[in-house]
Amino acid sequence: MSINLKKTKAMCHICGRNDSAKKYGLSKSGKQRYYCLSCGKSFQATYIYKGKELNIVAHVEKLWEKGHTVEQISTAFQVPLAKVKAVVAQLEKDNVQYRR
Ligand SMILES: [Zn+2]
Repeated sequence: MSINLKKTKAMCHICGRNDSAKKYGLSKSGKQRYYCLSCGKSFQATYIYKGKELNIVAHVEKLWEKGHTVEQISTAFQVPLAKVKAVVAQLEKDNVQYRR
């Protein structure tokens, strides 16, 4: 019996794929960088959840608008899924156009 430790993969901030980003060293400021095999671009994992509620709401809204799922958003920002769902529920309440 083997236990698979599921590593959290970063979603590409450029093309949105969540299975193509590989770790790509650190930026000058010490942030983790990723390289996307799918679109060939590198990006920085800057959106790490640190309880900055307002930022998270804005970022979630952006990706939700683009059609990403709550699971993808949760992975991209490393925000608990329940938190993303709560934000989306609020967005849907306030904005009819976000309802799916
Ligand atoms: Zn990409």
